Amino acid sequence: MKGLVYDGPGKIGFKNVPKPEIKNATDAIVKMVKTTICGTDLGILHGKTPSVKPGTTLGHEGVGVIEEVGSGVSNFKKGDRVIISCITACGSCEYCKKQMYSHCKDGGWILGHIINGTQAEYVRIPHANNSLYIAPEGVDDEALVMLSDILPTGLEIGVINGCVKPGNTIAIVGAGPIGMSALLTAQFYSPAKIYMIDIDENRLKLAKKWGATDTINSGTEDAIKKILSETADGVDVAIEAVGAPVTFDICQQIVRPGGNIANIGVHGKSVDLKIQDLWIKNITITMGLVNTNTTPMLLKTVTSKKIQPEKLITHHFKLDEIMRAYEVFGNASEEKALKIILTN
Ligand SMILES: [Zn+2]
Ligand SMILES: [Zn+2]
Repeated sequence: MKGLVYDGPGKIGFKNVPKPEIKNATDAIVKMVKTTICGTDLGILHGKTPSVKPGTTLGHEGVGVIEEVGSGVSNFKKGDRVIISCITACGSCEYCKKQMYSHCKDGGWILGHIINGTQAEYVRIPHANNSLYIAPEGVDDEALVMLSDILPTGLEIGVINGCVKPGNTIAIVGAGPIGMSALLTAQFYSPAKIYMIDIDENRLKLAKKWGATDTINSGTEDAIKKILSETADGVDVAIEAVGAPVTFDICQQIVRPGGNIANIGVHGKSVDLKIQDLWIKNITITMGLVNTNTTPMLLKTVTSKKIQPEKLITHHFKLDEIMRAYEVFGNASEEKALKIILTN
């Protein structure tokens, strides 16, 4: 079968790889139907994630059909249509017991990172009982792909960690797929004002359509100055959804006393933490890897169309066109790309 293999910084290829087989009784083999490319995959490609070893098949999102299950898998059977969580959870270790699946002692983010991932014809899912969800009948597969990673990440690491509350003024820095997911899920909590900050006019226009009350192009305008002049003393919650020192700095300069900075972005280097200014403002800073413990709840909101994450999808390719898809996603601004769907 074929898979998208990482061959070291700057190098990927769509090549023949062995079809995965059941290794442990708790494994399932899933035939991929839809998958996608994450900003994290671009980070890996650019050498930001040295824990990914050359030879690894990338991808940690997708929907598929169960091909085979090990003898220890009781929740799923051959033929079930499933959503693959980006986080693998054994369900029984100390971290899993605390619903901190991101740090599962025999899982966490391993797909397309430590073990072969979903940008392939088939994938092996360890601890299938706790790491897959049945795809409800009648719900679009492509909408469900957004539940693998970006929706829970935007909600848990941005909105919930940031403690977004009714009436809040919040700012989301970065209008990529993750920032947009934070935008969609922040509206569960009815903030009064949502600033979206980015340097891409097209993305800002979309953000406005999807619920941002105010947009700022930080490439042409001083976002910090504008927010501080329009709000009494800054925003209640600043959500960082890029992963760069400059965007983190915007967050630490616009947050009001008692406020929260919720960092979602994956950083490849240190940021300049202005602790000398922040300490006296009683600021809470949070960061983290998604636990995906909100996935069952989000699945209900997608099934009922309370949120429609399929609107984040801008491009479609066949799985064997994945090299082209990486080019498009890597050039997201010119290509006006947000989320790309690959169909096997
Ligand atoms: Zn991801
Ligand atoms: Zn565990």
